[in-house]
Amino acid sequence: MSSTQGGAEPIAVVGSVAFDTLETPHGRADDELGGAATHFAVAASFFAPVALVAPIGDDFPQAALAYLAERGIDCTGLERRAGKTFRWHGRYHEDMNKRDTLHLDLGVFATFAPTVHEAIRRAPYLFLGNIDPVLQRSVLEQFASPRLVGLDTMNHWIAEARAPLEALLSRVDILVINDEEARELSGEDNIVRAARRILGYGARSIIVKRGEYGAILFSPESVFAVPAFPLERVFDPTGAGDTFAGGMMGHLAATGDVSHANLRRAIVYGTVLASFVVEDFGGRRMRTLDRDAIEQRYRQFVALTTF
Ligand code: AMP
Repeated sequence: MSSTQGGAEPIAVVGSVAFDTLETPHGRADDELGGAATHFAVAASFFAPVALVAPIGDDFPQAALAYLAERGIDCTGLERRAGKTFRWHGRYHEDMNKRDTLHLDLGVFATFAPTVHEAIRRAPYLFLGNIDPVLQRSVLEQFASPRLVGLDTMNHWIAEARAPLEALLSRVDILVINDEEARELSGEDNIVRAARRILGYGARSIIVKRGEYGAILFSPESVFAVPAFPLERVFDPTGAGDTFAGGMMGHLAATGDVSHANLRRAIVYGTVLASFVVEDFGGRRMRTLDRDAIEQRYRQFVALTTF
């Protein structure tokens, strides 16, 4: 069962629920349960109640639903439709900060138009996972007054849907993107300048993920940087970004504290969660993870960065 903290507030996440084929320098795995929203939801479920909003196909197995339910994840927003679940096939380079998408099959995602259930719409924390910004906006508009909105995106949408994406940014509290996306969105090569420009588009804060080099939070008042947790072996980076976001928002929802000081702690929790997911293929490592191991690594992280 999940072990969320009492008093934690609910989080809703919309995005992909998928089956992934993963190739890394360490091997290959087929049909791993993945998807950006899945990785986010599993990570956040260690801290707070989470509702998952996504389409799944008629091929989505009961065992995967049972696993999500076991983690305490609310699956009432998973819409089962005739057709196939989203599929993604990715291959990492020797330098695992780089990967290629070999194949992507939208399946039931191609016609997804989410109607969020009444109960889920009241969630104070909302994460708009990496999907078409037009869909992200339609989900956001169904929420009465979320306390905190996070958003992820990718190069594809920056290139193909820039106008709706930029229009969304003024309604976003935390934009979570990687360094390459920050450069593309801003047109600036330097990450600091890129972040400043994106803040100018209206996002209240930006977290730039830099893979094995960590993450940097930019807000109008300050900059905060964390390294990645140093691991001897990164097995498969898939889902690290979404797991980071899930751990971070999970901590904010668990504490109900969205202050800047707590956002810094939340970023460390996100970093810790991401450091676990990369230890095995897809989300496998999360199946054996528990809160004690999370807290232990959090303390190690604090020791590592204190001077
Ligand atoms: P990350 O490694 O954090 O970027 O997340 C990888 C996850 O995102 C995988 O589990 C994929 O199923 C999912 N994914 C990959 N490409 C897309 C896409 N174009 N839209 C939505 N989800 C995607």
